[in-house]
Amino acid sequence: MATLPMIGPEATSAGDEREDTSDWRWQSRHAVRDLEGLERALRLTDAEREGVRRALAGGFPMSITPHYLGLMDPSDPRCPIRRQAVPTAEEATEVPGDLRDPLGEEAHEVAPELVQRYPDRVLLLATDRCAVYCRFCTRSRMVGDGGGARALERLEPAFRFIEAHPEIRDVIVSGGDPLVMASSRVEAILRRLASIAHVGTVRVATRAPVTLPQRIDAELCRALRAHPATWVMTHFNHPRELAPAAVDALACLADHGLPVMNQSVLLRGINDDADTLEALFRGLVRHRVRPYYLLQADPVRGTGHLRTPIETGIRVMERLQGRLSGIALPKLIVDTPGGRGKVPVGPDTIVRRRDGVTTLRTFRGEEVDYLDPPPARAALPGT
Ligand code: SF4
Repeated sequence: MATLPMIGPEATSAGDEREDTSDWRWQSRHAVRDLEGLERALRLTDAEREGVRRALAGGFPMSITPHYLGLMDPSDPRCPIRRQAVPTAEEATEVPGDLRDPLGEEAHEVAPELVQRYPDRVLLLATDRCAVYCRFCTRSRMVGDGGGARALERLEPAFRFIEAHPEIRDVIVSGGDPLVMASSRVEAILRRLASIAHVGTVRVATRAPVTLPQRIDAELCRALRAHPATWVMTHFNHPRELAPAAVDALACLADHGLPVMNQSVLLRGINDDADTLEALFRGLVRHRVRPYYLLQADPVRGTGHLRTPIETGIRVMERLQGRLSGIALPKLIVDTPGGRGKVPVGPDTIVRRRDGVTTLRTFRGEEVDYLDPPPARAALPGT
């Protein structure tokens, strides 16, 4: 990686000697949100400059923590970390199929900040803030819109809706990134959900371990335990994101007894090859994180340059099958446009089915028959 003067984790500005770059508040305060700051850290292309200007002029905002900036190659615009967070002129281009709200979340809003797309689970949007605004974000229509963390009173109708619907067993707390909120607020939300007996699990969806890993400390982990079954859903997309501070964050979560799962988004030129994803999934498992979903990128307006054809994901999964054990191999998922639900896709492993014989193709390409058992005989009286 080439070296330029960086606003990175090690850098401190003159006259501010007491800076603690390992403090997440410092990281948040020093996030780069303007063109001048980014120019100091990276050798920008014209397309990036134009993208930043558009973002600052009222588009999807930009924010990049010094930690995440420090993972970027300052002189290579194809850097997989840089392409996730630095706006480019291509965001102005819409392609067929692009949608402002690809998962139809607004149409599925059942109470303020509460989305229901499946009978047994709901999505609670607790804030619009994130440490880094990912350029492929499904919620680019609303994240960073200035509302900030939602007050508990504002979320109360959502809690009441959940209370009134005992079929809801699982609440996903998302945003924005809920872990950029104060620990006390995270704890209060989880406590309120814990007071609803039929909510069996809470999933906290966060990129903080990736983009602001200093945020994951013992105090926050204790707050996350306010619901007895909190799962943490992280979002690592590239093995380079498993930096030492991120590894510490994952260890802190696991050591506090929090199950951690990872969803990755398949992104063109960033992680759309088997070698990169194999390294990522092996790295996650090594740090006690289960790779859970590999998501086909949602058709968000202005992200055509970051999306892959569905066939790419299927071919990548074909190559990973057999190379990775079951605990390291996620499901490839397409979240269907319009909010119609997730559909698993993958290599076609069933060659044919006939007369109780199914012919399967193994990861080595061999064809093997599986014979169904004979039909069960009618139960005899007394058995
Ligand atoms: S952290 Fe999540 S919600 Fe925030 S911009 Fe990235 S993908 Fe979107």
